[in-house]
Amino acid sequence: MTNAPKKSYPDLPSGSRIQDVANSVDPRVTALLERYYEHFASPELPVPVDSIAVDLLGLTVDEDDALDVSGMLVPDEHQIWLNGREARQSPGRRRFTLAHELGHWVCQYTEGRVEPRYCRAEEIGVGVGRKLEREANMFAAHLLMPEPLVRREAAAVKLNLHALARRFEVSVPAMKVRLQQLSLLPAYMQ
Ligand SMILES: [Zn+2]
Repeated sequence: MTNAPKKSYPDLPSGSRIQDVANSVDPRVTALLERYYEHFASPELPVPVDSIAVDLLGLTVDEDDALDVSGMLVPDEHQIWLNGREARQSPGRRRFTLAHELGHWVCQYTEGRVEPRYCRAEEIGVGVGRKLEREANMFAAHLLMPEPLVRREAAAVKLNLHALARRFEVSVPAMKVRLQQLSLLPAYMQ
C-alpha cells in the first residue's frame, strides 16, 4: 500500500487517511473504494454497492425469483444473479449477497478462473463459510461496513443496533457481528 494516495476522506474523522485504514481493512476493499470515489462520488453511506458493481466494475446485476441459491457469479458474462425472493424480503440481505459476489469477483477471479460460483444462503454472512466463501464474506463486511465509519456512527448513535443497520443498509444480525468483530459490542448486548 505504499502507493496509496494520501488524500483525506471527507467522511472519516478529521485527520484520518485511507492509509490509516489499510491495516485493518482488506486492502482490496480499500483500493476498490478509493477507485470508486475517485471517479464517481464522495464517500457516502450507505456504501453504493450497486453502483460499484455496475459503474465501476462493469458487471451486470439482475434478480431472478427462480434462482435456487442466494447469489451467483458468472464471470464469463460479467454477470451477477441475485435471488429475487430474498431481495424483496430483505434489502440488507440483498446488499450483502451482492457485496459477497463482488468479493468473489475481486479476490478470486483475477487468475483466469472461469467457472460460475453458486452461493447458498448458509454460506453468506459475516464470519461464516469456509475458505473462498469466508474470504468473500470478509470482503463484503469490510465493503459495506468500513471500520472507521462503523466506529464513527456507532459513537454517534450510542450503539443503537437498529439505527446502525439502517444507516449502513445491512441486516441487524450482520451489523451485530461486525460490531463484535470490531470489539465494539459490550457484553450485555452480545
Ligand atoms: Zn460465495
